[in-house]
Amino acid sequence: MKRKGILIVVSGFSGAGKGTLMKRLVQDFDNYALSISMTTRNPRPGETDGKEYFFVSREAFEKQIEENGLVEYASYCDNYYGTPREYVEQQLELGKDVILEIEIQGALKVKKKFPSALLMFVMPPSAQELKRRLVGRGTETEEVIEKRLKRASEEAEGIEEYDYIVVNDDLEECVKYMHSLVMAAHATPDRNEELIQNMRKELEAFSK
Ligand code: ADP
Ligand code: 5GP
Repeated sequence: MKRKGILIVVSGFSGAGKGTLMKRLVQDFDNYALSISMTTRNPRPGETDGKEYFFVSREAFEKQIEENGLVEYASYCDNYYGTPREYVEQQLELGKDVILEIEIQGALKVKKKFPSALLMFVMPPSAQELKRRLVGRGTETEEVIEKRLKRASEEAEGIEEYDYIVVNDDLEECVKYMHSLVMAAHATPDRNEELIQNMRKELEAFSK
């Protein structure tokens, strides 16, 4: 029987290490597919269109919204970010666990639309370490870092909505831990309805 893919939402404060963790999950295990979002923000040095994001204009983004081409979208620090629908649906159908690395507004929309989605929130070991990582990454101006830290404080209000919290202290440990949570999610009854129904049918046949 083909295993169904799980839609996995990963959120966390900017600089917590989401991107780093996602890359490792995809590298280390073969069950994951990473959704590439569309955004109106400018590429950072080293980012390529179609790899980290699809970088588009506001007009192109709004056209996608109108055409229902996005699973969800949100505005974050003055830019649009959204999840293209086609890839997600196709990969889930193929049995892949599809990871969406998205912020909280989008995450809550996904949970509403897809109640069986698995929501994980990545926490840094401390707020000080978060700032250190964000500054250390060296990709944003001081002004943008301020904005992102302010936004982190707002996002902290919604953490209870998530299914799991993972603390990204030791990277290796965190990658293994996240993977084990996904594997455990595959074992819940609501994600195995077909297996349960088939077993019931076969057992019924014994008593005929
Ligand atoms: P996010 O995608 O959440 O904004 P990144 O993956 O870009 O965060 O990570 C932010 C910075 O922190 C990067 O420079 C990254 O190398 C570093 N980092 C990520 N995970 C860890 C960790 N476990 N320990 C130390 N530094 C980390
Ligand atoms: P960054 O600019 O650092 O790449 O991303 C900023 C924020 O946007 C992060 O919290 C990231 O998770 C979120 N984000 C990235 N892609 C999407 C998306 O498709 N939808 C939503 N809602 N948020 C996204």
